Amino acid sequence: MAVEKMLKFVTVGKSMPEKRSATERAHDFNEIYGEYVAAKAEEQASRCSQCGVPYCQSHCPLHNNIPDWLRLTATGRLQEAYEISQATNTFPEICGRICPQDRLCEGNCVIEQSGHGTVTIGSVEKYITDTAWEQGWVKPISPSQERPESVGIIGAGPGGLAAADMLRRAGLQVTVYDRYDRAGGLLTYGIPGFKLEKDVVMRRNQQLEAGGITFVMNCTVGDDISFAEIREKHDFVVIATGVYKTRDLAGPGSGAAGIVNAIDYLTASNRLSFGDSVPEFESGELNAEGKKVVVIGGGDTAMDCVRTAIRQGAESVKCLYRRDRANMPGSQREVQNAEEEGVEFVWLTAPKGFAGDPVTGVMVQQMRLGQPDASGRRSPEVVDGADYVEEADLVIKALGFEPEALPALWNTPELDVTRWGTVKADFRTHETNLPGVYAVGDIQRGASLVVWAIRDGREAAEDILSKLAASTGVAAE
Ligand SMILES: Cc1cc2nc3c(=O)[nH]c(=O)nc-3n(C[C@H](O)[C@H](O)[C@H](O)COP(=O)(O)OP(=O)(O)OC[C@H]3O[C@@H](n4cnc5c(N)ncnc54)[C@H](O)[C@@H]3O)c2cc1C
Ligand code: SF4
Repeated sequence: MAVEKMLKFVTVGKSMPEKRSATERAHDFNEIYGEYVAAKAEEQASRCSQCGVPYCQSHCPLHNNIPDWLRLTATGRLQEAYEISQATNTFPEICGRICPQDRLCEGNCVIEQSGHGTVTIGSVEKYITDTAWEQGWVKPISPSQERPESVGIIGAGPGGLAAADMLRRAGLQVTVYDRYDRAGGLLTYGIPGFKLEKDVVMRRNQQLEAGGITFVMNCTVGDDISFAEIREKHDFVVIATGVYKTRDLAGPGSGAAGIVNAIDYLTASNRLSFGDSVPEFESGELNAEGKKVVVIGGGDTAMDCVRTAIRQGAESVKCLYRRDRANMPGSQREVQNAEEEGVEFVWLTAPKGFAGDPVTGVMVQQMRLGQPDASGRRSPEVVDGADYVEEADLVIKALGFEPEALPALWNTPELDVTRWGTVKADFRTHETNLPGVYAVGDIQRGASLVVWAIRDGREAAEDILSKLAASTGVAAE
């Protein structure tokens, strides 16, 4: 159907509203965080025009069959809606909560495009799956046959767990190794609990364990067990280790006390929510209470840090970002949430150095946007003579993450990596240059999103199953 025709359909009877600003759109997306009662979910689901294109589905990395589960939800057929939703998504309750829907499914909803506010797809997905858990429709994995082949998965984040789930369903023997004490990767220790409740993640971990997946926790591959041993033990190996090397800041004073990494700060906060003892929090090092906090960076990790600092009772929270609002990488919805909570954004600013030890301030350079670079983004340039000091007694560096050097750490120089250090693998099958070894999620694609890690994990599992079917003649059920 022609796009114009479709737009006419959804706007029929109403005058075309003016194009709304990012802030106005962010208000609509805030509904995501509302508690969805059945009536609200049905009302939202019934707003879907069943347009027939459907852009929401093609812009969901998992190609979830959104129109179908919206139609079923609209008529109260929740169990069927859940069955369709979980057929393509291993963790729909998690994606429903934390996908940046404004950039994916909802941002491409034709009703949103026509200026009438998106169908809040993520919230409906969350609602359907939370209901499924409450009603006992989510069951432990129960393969119809056990198979002898085994798979070792390194990393219990969403990429590794999505692969584990599919492979175990097919009856394979699956062991997941992780250096942390709890499974979930960044779902557990990166993303704050106010965006993704920890019991939601733990419930999934328990379901996977109850389905026969073996978890070997507190096990760092490269230290506690070698990569070669893992390869020897298993028929297939999936590398799903994520990216954890923090991009750093240079400049005078950058080693001062009170300047911390975002991942350390967020991990401490998440550990506290589990009731763990966190000495760096007790000592005040990773506690924002009563402090003037400056967060450096403009991505979603920076947004998580500023919002965590507000919740810890910081005296003030400022976010320095070298470009302007329109050019920041983080979700506009997150910026909107942070602003509403009292965070001040200082656009077009970059740190030049730090005063004091412990830190007392950030030496700030003011920036302006110059000509677009090769990627089309306008590059920030320094405004001469406009430097100033921003007071701070806690500075959080949230400048992004890079992969650790796995071939060196694992004494496996034969494993191919890209020039960025990510593990090189086929983008469809996820197999690396080492036969039977796969790479998925952030360690393959660089820092990305949960929904992409899930897709990668599922694709790698599919490839393993098709290889097994070809070699044994027994297709997975
Ligand atoms: C603060 C923060 C907030 C984010 N918020 C969002 C969001 O709101 N929405 C969204 O979609 N995405 C978000 N992301 C991105 C998202 O979390 C990642 O893209 C996703 O978790 C990647 O999944 P993964 O399975 O590849 O890796 P991870 O989730 O990083 O899991 C990797 C696992 O491997 C383990 N591991 C690493 N090395 C070893 C080793 N040598 N031996 C054993 N185990 C090892 C780690 O302990 C970890 O458990 C956020 C990221 C951060 C940092
Ligand atoms: S998985 Fe993410 S992108 Fe896909 S429908 Fe759900 S919320 Fe939207």
